[in-house]
Amino acid sequence: MPFSIVESQARIDLAAAFRWAARWDMHESIANHFSVAVSPDGRQFLLNPQGSHFSRIQASDLLLLDSSNAAAQKAANAPDPTAWHLHAVLHQQLPHARCILHTHMPYATSLCCLQDFEFLMLDQNACRFHQRIAYDRDYAGMALDPSEGARVAGLMQGSKNVLFMGNHGVLVVGPTVAQALDTLYYLEKAAKLQVLALSTGRPLALIPEPLAALACAQWNDYPTAFSELHFKALKNILDLEEMDYKK
Ligand SMILES: [Zn+2]
Repeated sequence: MPFSIVESQARIDLAAAFRWAARWDMHESIANHFSVAVSPDGRQFLLNPQGSHFSRIQASDLLLLDSSNAAAQKAANAPDPTAWHLHAVLHQQLPHARCILHTHMPYATSLCCLQDFEFLMLDQNACRFHQRIAYDRDYAGMALDPSEGARVAGLMQGSKNVLFMGNHGVLVVGPTVAQALDTLYYLEKAAKLQVLALSTGRPLALIPEPLAALACAQWNDYPTAFSELHFKALKNILDLEEMDYKK
C-alpha cells in the first residue's frame, strides 16, 4: 500500500535528519533514535529500525508504529525497547513533541556529565535555549521500564524543548523535523563552545539574564523561517550527494 502524502514527506524528512546527524558526528554505532508523528494525535509515528546506521537510512526503512499497539514490541521488526518506552509515550503526552531526537552527541553529553550543571548563557546561540532546557539528574540505567516515558514527559512540560539526561545524552523535541534538527544542531554548537570556554579555566563572560531573555525572544521571532531554510539547504546537499535517502 502506498504511503500517504503526509507519511511520505515525514519519511523523507526524517531520513534526511539521520543522514545529517551522521555527517555531524552525532551518531553512535547503530544506537540512538529519531521519531516523527504522522497522525494528529501523535499515536502513529515513524522510528528508525534496529540495526540501521544513521548514514544509510532510507525513507522506506522507517518503522510505522502505533503507540496504542503494545504488540509492536513482539513483532518480527520490533523497535528497540528503550526507544519504544520513551518515544511512544512522549508522542502521546507532549503535543509539542511531533519530532523527537535522542542522541549522545559528544559536547552536549559532556555537559550532562557535570555535577549540577546548568546550560550557560555564554553566546548568542546559547540564548536560543534560555529557560528551554529540562534536566534529568537521576540516571537510572537504560530506559527499559514502561514508566520511563511518563517520567520524562513530566519533566518536559511548558516551553521545554530540550532534556539534558544526566550521565547519558540529550533529547530534543520540535513541531517539525526541520525545527527539531535545527535545535539539535545549535544545541551541539553552543555546547561545544561551552566545553571549549570552560576548558580554558578563565572566568566566563556570561550574558546577563535580561539580555539572554531578549536574545531568546529575538531568535523565536526572527523574521524568516530560519529552521525551514536551514533544512531545505541541507536536503539540497543530500539531493546532490546521496539522493538514495529519499528511497
Ligand atoms: Zn541514549
